Amino acid sequence: MEFQNMRKLLFIAGLVFLFTQSNAQHASWQQRAEYKMDVELDHNNHQYKGKQTLTYFNNSPDQITKVFYHLYFNAFQPGSAMDVRSRQIVDPDPRVGDRIFNLKPEECGFLHATSLKMDGKKLNFIESETILEVTLDKPIAPGAKCVFEMEFEGQVPIQIRRSGRSSSEGIDYSMSQWYPKMCEYDAHGWHANPYIGREFYGIWGDFEVNITIDKKYIIGGTGVLQNPTEIGYGYIEENKVKRPAGDKLTWRFKAENVHDFVWAADPDYAHDKIQVPNGPELHFFYQKGTEYAQAWKDMQPLASKAFEFLSKNFGKYPYPQYTVIQGGDGGMEYPMATLVTGNRKLPSLTGVTVHEAAHSWYQGVLATNESLYCWMDEGFTSFAAQETMDHLFRSGMPSGHASAYNGYYDIVRDKREEALDTHADHYVTNYAYGTAAYNKGEVYLAQLEYILGPTNFRAGLLDYFNEFKFRHPDNYDFIHVMEKRSGMELDWYNEYFVNTIKSIDYGIALFQSAGKNTIVVLERLGEMPMPVEVEVIYKNGNKETFVTALDIMRDEKPADGYNGKWTILPDWKWVELTYELNIPHVADEIESIIIDPSGLMADIEHKNNKLVLDEAIQFIIDNRK
Ligand SMILES: [Zn+2]
Repeated sequence: MEFQNMRKLLFIAGLVFLFTQSNAQHASWQQRAEYKMDVELDHNNHQYKGKQTLTYFNNSPDQITKVFYHLYFNAFQPGSAMDVRSRQIVDPDPRVGDRIFNLKPEECGFLHATSLKMDGKKLNFIESETILEVTLDKPIAPGAKCVFEMEFEGQVPIQIRRSGRSSSEGIDYSMSQWYPKMCEYDAHGWHANPYIGREFYGIWGDFEVNITIDKKYIIGGTGVLQNPTEIGYGYIEENKVKRPAGDKLTWRFKAENVHDFVWAADPDYAHDKIQVPNGPELHFFYQKGTEYAQAWKDMQPLASKAFEFLSKNFGKYPYPQYTVIQGGDGGMEYPMATLVTGNRKLPSLTGVTVHEAAHSWYQGVLATNESLYCWMDEGFTSFAAQETMDHLFRSGMPSGHASAYNGYYDIVRDKREEALDTHADHYVTNYAYGTAAYNKGEVYLAQLEYILGPTNFRAGLLDYFNEFKFRHPDNYDFIHVMEKRSGMELDWYNEYFVNTIKSIDYGIALFQSAGKNTIVVLERLGEMPMPVEVEVIYKNGNKETFVTALDIMRDEKPADGYNGKWTILPDWKWVELTYELNIPHVADEIESIIIDPSGLMADIEHKNNKLVLDEAIQFIIDNRK
């Protein structure tokens, strides 16, 4: 999801101890689902009927006795969990508010299974709003597969959140979360979360989706169109097109190794495509003839550069195509495609496209359970997107991640923070969810670069992608990759920064001349311990950084390109609240002392981090809180 929307909402409201640290062993298996769907949409009443053949591979070591499907469109009815939640939360998303409550029957959404068979035998099922519950007559054995055949019918709701018809920008159909989608089963069991408008989690597999619709519509979606010669509309040169007779066209899409399928349809789409060097073909669908059409043209080469940058720095994009579609209500990521609102000037259009494209790495390919680890999706995506935008536009800011830090500091000061390990649906406020998922998630990575140093951190990000693509990693998997790359023990980082809201605050407590030396006493005021770097600038212009690792890290950060003197001191034991730093220079030679000159440590109080000296030989900071 795009952060701008979240932000709008906020305004409203050495030795490697590899084998001892991890308390979770990542599962070596993933379930698999192969979907074949035929769907026909009647644009007169906005209803559709479909047939779904789902081949389900139980790769788990468990007998599967029940299965669950998401029926997301049932959320768009008065009294649904999403409606109630939206009206009760103290800082509702203004796009939703009480709009679901006020829907008329013909404006509602629905999605119902009308029949279901497993391996040819009829099954009973219970529809529990947005979840279909199915008790199997015969369990699916470990390693076995079965075929579910379902008939379903749905109605596309008026656009309220993400999907729907008649968007505010005049897009007829934004079709996300539109089909019965099998819930994911993993090493922790089923994840049949009722839909309240937040996060997603799906099974990897192949999709073949055939969409039949009035021939006036132009469709963009997940995957690759298989029958461009029957379609045309920018997929192939018009003189090669042989459209079948009749009022309707059937669009045949195929996508391999994805966990969801989105599409959108409008009669007025322009459709452009460009090739990313050594990358995917990019497709763009946007309203023809508007004042924003030029921005859509100008954005395309920037999107191509973004894919090159993301592939180089975060792992190679594995699919042949990516499609940017005007639709939806902000920006929302799907495998191989995104829906974005399109009435934007170039910087905003590029920003939203880059953010959603960067989701291809963290939501699309790594695909952590977003409900449990929303920050590993939105936060890591925000991190990658910010760096991509800095690359494209060279913002020149000292830290491209500064706004994420500031958002995090604000909520700490507000005392409304909730821990990162909160289930996304269960944050008390949208503000706390947004700040955790986007800001603190981004800070989590930026600060990890401070702990590890850039070389290991950057290599670790690539390791993470390459080791865990298509595997649904969790936070323990991620930190273990970083431990292997850096040689540090890092479980404490997750324990404090993810599992709690304990914060960081270091200060300079005392500066004292001691003959030929100078003594500086550092103190830890916050509850979360961190490795500390203190940069001393000497009056002769030289600089030196004193580095004290935490004892529980079991290693020190390397100088890693630092252009001054890098002096490693004995560890700071995490239980100690103060640390005496002995600088082997007389006080007169020192111009200034600063804790964390990089600004990457999320120290909530910067006032006590810096000391600028003139003639003083002893100075006790009196303005610390
Ligand atoms: Zn996002």
